[in-house]
Order: sequence, then structure tokens, then C-alpha cells
Amino acid sequence: MAANNPKLSRRQFLKASASAVISLAVVGSAAYYFKDKSSVLKTGVIRPPGSRDEEEFLYACIKCGLCVQICPVHAIKLADWDHYLSYGTPYIDVNQQACDFSCDAIQCAETCPTAAINFKIFKHAGDKAIEELTKKYNGQLPPNVNPFEVQIIAMREADKMGVAKIPDPNQCLAYHGHGYKGKLGKTHSLLRPPGSQERIYIDEVEVNREICDLCVAYCPLGDHAIELKELGNGKFLPEIKDGCVGCGVCQMLCPTEPKAIVIEPFKGLETA
Ligand code: SF4
Ligand code: SF4
Ligand code: SF4
Repeated sequence: MAANNPKLSRRQFLKASASAVISLAVVGSAAYYFKDKSSVLKTGVIRPPGSRDEEEFLYACIKCGLCVQICPVHAIKLADWDHYLSYGTPYIDVNQQACDFSCDAIQCAETCPTAAINFKIFKHAGDKAIEELTKKYNGQLPPNVNPFEVQIIAMREADKMGVAKIPDPNQCLAYHGHGYKGKLGKTHSLLRPPGSQERIYIDEVEVNREICDLCVAYCPLGDHAIELKELGNGKFLPEIKDGCVGCGVCQMLCPTEPKAIVIEPFKGLETA
């Protein structure tokens, strides 16, 4: 009988131990994998605006890095082995540097030689906005309207990288009626504030807000995307609207730790 045979028992014991070690390693790796996967989701790693759906994107992207070079705020990076994205493909980590659209004409999409980042949707949206405006004013643009601005706004809204969320209002300073005084951001990231022609480094600018509204004040889509709502009793909370495209400027600037406002990416996570 096996139980009475010490040699066999030892072999069985060793075998069982080895299986246990292997099982623990497998379970540990799986836990690590899923833990990291969820942290990728939370930190807002996204594809550049206009990127095709992930499967098509992976076929179309030739990893040339032209989008990386053209982005004036250096928002786009190429994925390393440790990302849950195909090696060498472009992504944006909004904690480091969000896409602030300060290139104006979605230059990463315009420069992509294979249309993995698809400029057609932006061009179409820009042209359509001008066409509709011209039609509204009987074939002529009104003198006080800058057609370039009309085009740019329509282009920014033409595709969604993700959407901003406030998972826990308690994390938000405005929700407690608190202000914010200090650097505009903790990272050496670039930003062209709305209405300005100059880009600034956010860690070199001091702000002093009676009620924190950084996510609202610097959103490149303005009140199409986010507004600060008064809740009463001195409390406020940003309200995310349909125009939010998930650019991540709000997450980059939110001064709380962890961030009160985070991007839920729509594209770019490898599911296989
Ligand atoms: S849209 Fe402009 S700012 Fe945004 S990632 Fe592309 S090149 Fe950079
Ligand atoms: S709320 Fe504005 S800043 Fe935040 S992701 Fe949406 S569009 Fe970008
Ligand atoms: S920047 Fe952050 S803390 Fe400030 S209002 Fe927006 S979500 Fe709240």
C-alpha cells in the first residue's frame, strides 16, 4: 500500500510540493496580471485621438513613431514590453502628459501614414461644421465668426478616447467646499490653457482657487464637456457632459491623490 511505503510517500510529497509551488506561482502571476490590468484602466492609458478600434489598429499601425514626433506636447509614447498594449504601438498616459489638443488640427492623426489613427473622421467633422454654418447664414459666414475655430471645435469633438469619471465624490476638493493653492500640476507636463497661444509647464505655474475647479477651468472642450455644479451648503461637483472626449487634461491637473477625476479609456486595452 502506498501509505505504508515511505519511499513512495516521499516522492508523493515532493510531487505534491512541486505542484503546490507551481500552482501558487500561476495564481500569483494571474493576480499580478489582473491587478496591473485594473491599474492600467484606472490610470487612463489610452490610444491617441482617432485611433481605430483595437484589432484594426494593431493591423494598421506600423510602429513608425511619426505621431510621437509630431505631438507638440509629447503626449504620445510607444509601448514597452510591460504595457498591456502591443510593443511599439502609440499610447498616452494622461498622468504624465495628456493630449491638450494644442496642436489644433489633430496632427498625430494627420501625420499617420497608414490611417491607423484616422484623420478622415476629423476632416469630415471640420468640413461638416463649416458647411452647416454657411448654410445657416445663407451661404456666407458671419463676420464675427472665425471659421478656423468652428472647425477646430468640431474636430476635437469628433472622436472619443475615453470619458472622465468621478468614482468617489468624497475625493474631490470642491465637493467639500475646499479650494486649491499651489502648483497647477506636479509633473513637468505641457499645457496650452484655453484661450491662450502659449504653452506652459504646469509645475511652473502657481494657482489659487477659492473652490477647486482645475478640471473645469482647463478642459480644452470647455463647457461642452464639463461644468462645476453647485450642490448647496458650499459644496460643488464637476459634472461630466456628453462632449467629454477623454483627453485626460482633467486627470493630469487634479491635485488630489488618488485623483478624484479619472479617464475610463474606450480604446487601446489589449484583451487577448
Ligand atoms: S491631438 Fe495633437 S496634442 Fe493630442 S496627441 Fe495628437 S498631436 Fe498630440
Ligand atoms: S472633461 Fe474635458 S479635460 Fe476631462 S477628459 Fe473630458 S474633455 Fe478632457
Ligand atoms: S480638479 Fe479634482 S479636486 Fe478639483 S474640482 Fe476637479 S475633480 Fe475635484
